[in-house]
Amino acid sequence: MTEVIRALRQFRVSTVVQMGVGSAAGLLDVVGSLGGSRLTVVTDRGVQGAGIVDRVLAPLIAAGIPVDIDDTAQPNPKDVDCEASAARATAFGADLIVGIGGGSPLDAAKTVAMLMINGGAARDWGFTRPFDADPLPLIAIPTTAGTGSEVTTVAVVTDTARKFKMTLGDPRMAPAVALVDPDLTMSVPPATTAATGMDALTHAIEAYTCRVSNPVSDALALRAMRMTAANVEAAVRDGSDRAAREAMLTASTLAGMAFGNADVAAVHCISEAIGGLYDTPHGVANSVFLPIVFAHNIEADPARHADVAECLGVIREGRRDEHIAQAGAERLTELSCAVGIPRLRDLPHIDPVDFPRLAAASLINGSTPSNARELTEADYLHLLERAYEA
Ligand code: NAD
Repeated sequence: MTEVIRALRQFRVSTVVQMGVGSAAGLLDVVGSLGGSRLTVVTDRGVQGAGIVDRVLAPLIAAGIPVDIDDTAQPNPKDVDCEASAARATAFGADLIVGIGGGSPLDAAKTVAMLMINGGAARDWGFTRPFDADPLPLIAIPTTAGTGSEVTTVAVVTDTARKFKMTLGDPRMAPAVALVDPDLTMSVPPATTAATGMDALTHAIEAYTCRVSNPVSDALALRAMRMTAANVEAAVRDGSDRAAREAMLTASTLAGMAFGNADVAAVHCISEAIGGLYDTPHGVANSVFLPIVFAHNIEADPARHADVAECLGVIREGRRDEHIAQAGAERLTELSCAVGIPRLRDLPHIDPVDFPRLAAASLINGSTPSNARELTEADYLHLLERAYEA
């Protein structure tokens, strides 16, 4: 096993984060502080339909600020849509971008802000090619408790020609300001609450167990794990539970800070491969693979996997780390079932004939080297087959 040294090289969250109930009401002031005079709002139709966009923008409209609402963002945002939105925002003369929504509109907004200044196609900036210039300033307003995109420096965009989810990233992609208001997540339906909540848990677990974590990301990840494990079921069961919603959104943002300064790992490598090919919701794909990859990785670092198990509520009671960690893997399966995540074989389009292609796509994901246990293409194939049998 390669020795992993968890030294703190650098920790950065350059986004100013305003958190708490009512924080979205500060949008007008934040726009003023960033000098925005013409705004493009990037969102999707589901968020629009929930009435969130009108509510959040009301003070700006009342103040007479010109706003173009672009609600064309798609789940697993597509390169061609982002490019069209960038052209539209340029034609409108936007000097500030506001992303309102889950990870998909936020990543689309990040990509729009970047393309407007740096030009080209989204694909030209894949595999985290450094940007030539600062993107347009961006305000991120999350409406799901899952991705943490409001504080990360990357956007995940589907290359539609290759059916591959690529990562665009540069420290300058971080939103200038994030307004993290749990009130905006109250209308998320149960199935999306479950998928996004398990996504936040996956971020925290992978940030903690990957090879490139550091003491600060560890602290954030451990806290985020405890908060998600304690609140995800309540938020799914009763979406009007404000305390659970607030805890989940806070945990999601903490987990974003954690993995944004460490990395994600094999769960994300597989789920991004599946999302690119089948458009599977990101949180569902993560949740399906989380217990299987977790169990596979235990032998690489039993102590860290036991720490995770403890955050999930497993009692240590002097047992060996391997046993505690194994109980953690079982707890992850239980949690996934409890919140109603479907099995891999029940998801639309999934076909084992594609597994070799998915294994190859997982292997080339930039986060494969960060996984606690070294993985080959054959290992990925094995994990896909195990998940399909589960
Ligand atoms: P999403 O943004 O695709 O939204 C899922 C659905 O929920 C949509 O139909 C949307 O309309 C609806 N919705 C969102 N908020 C709502 C609300 N408040 N009320 C009612 N409906 C609402 O889902 P997501 O899981 O938040 O984002 C997934 C995307 O984020 C994926 O593309 C994934 O790759 C990406 N991601 C990015 C990062 C990052 O750091 N950039 C991290 C993790 C994931």
